Amino acid sequence: MAEVLVYVDHVDGAVRKPTLELLTLARRVGEPVAVALGAGAEATAAVLAEHGAVKVLTADAPEFTDYLVVPKVDALQAAYDAVSPAAVLVPSSAEGKEIAARLAVRIGSGIITDAIDLEAGDEGPVATQAAFAASFTTKSRVSKGTPVITVKPNSAPVEAAPAAGAVEALAVTFGALATGTKVVSRTPRESTGRPELTEAAIVVSGGRGVNGAENFHLIEDLADSLGAAVGASRAAVDAGWYPHTNQVGQTGKSVSPQLYIATGISGAIQHRAGMQTSKTIVAINKDAEAPIFDLVDYGVVGDLFEVVPQLTGEIKAR
Ligand code: FAD
Repeated sequence: MAEVLVYVDHVDGAVRKPTLELLTLARRVGEPVAVALGAGAEATAAVLAEHGAVKVLTADAPEFTDYLVVPKVDALQAAYDAVSPAAVLVPSSAEGKEIAARLAVRIGSGIITDAIDLEAGDEGPVATQAAFAASFTTKSRVSKGTPVITVKPNSAPVEAAPAAGAVEALAVTFGALATGTKVVSRTPRESTGRPELTEAAIVVSGGRGVNGAENFHLIEDLADSLGAAVGASRAAVDAGWYPHTNQVGQTGKSVSPQLYIATGISGAIQHRAGMQTSKTIVAINKDAEAPIFDLVDYGVVGDLFEVVPQLTGEIKAR
């Protein structure tokens, strides 16, 4: 069976969920060979093996943290040269997309970004993408070279599938460009203790209807009762009620959780663009004519200041 390279997104050896989802998809088109780079790379091997990696190629060097993405591209290319895979899968993070694009240029391949599904096809893997604010889905395959495909978080289930997970050191020679852009400083974002917005299984978002930063605790309380991330519409962000890092939509983040709860959000096309692929959508809005109700699975017509605390209380009581 053909091997499929999977680029591992991890933090000091803790593998992030989108990578485990990639392993599920990779198994549909071949045998996953994981590529883990940087500090803690070897520590990723056990969990990658549990989720189907037949092999884990690891490399660590100061270049991976001291410089921007080019050293990682050098390493992924070294893995590509060593394995000659049938496809290369990379998580659709900002960094992942840059790594994937640079690799595709180097190996002369076509690239598909932000796939939401992947299946085997007669002429290579076929990726599904959401188009026009997720009003349509398209299926495409790369017709030139080895497909390089980035996949959006929450697009596939995480499935246990024990495999060998043999760990091998990857020999990497850094090119002249690797040290071209040095990282000067890093400022970690203050942790809220909530899941990362783009990776969360549940997202609770607030919009203009929340009517002030001082009321966003209602959205946070509901999110915390569900172990969810907090999102916001652009109207709420522009009003300064919630940080831009939490904005969902065309000019914010794109999320695809199992459950998306929109509170006090009208459902403008630009907001839909970032959440329409959510598996189950719930809206709480006092206007029964709000466009958000056109795409929901469950809708509550009511005042969020009454409905949200009741919902939070009910969930906490269970
Ligand atoms: P509104 O449209 O004002 O809706 C508020 C809703 O709250 C209403 O439906 C109202 O009935 C309801 N409501 C009010 N009070 C209550 C209450 N007490 N209880 C229950 N419901 C209540 N928007 C984004 O969200 N993300 C983007 O990334 C984004 N990018 C954009 C890019 C461009 C180029 C442009 C032009 C626009 C973009 N927008 C984006 C803005 C978008 O067009 C909308 O203006 C925005 O989404 C509206 O936010 P909202 O739904 O919170 O506010």
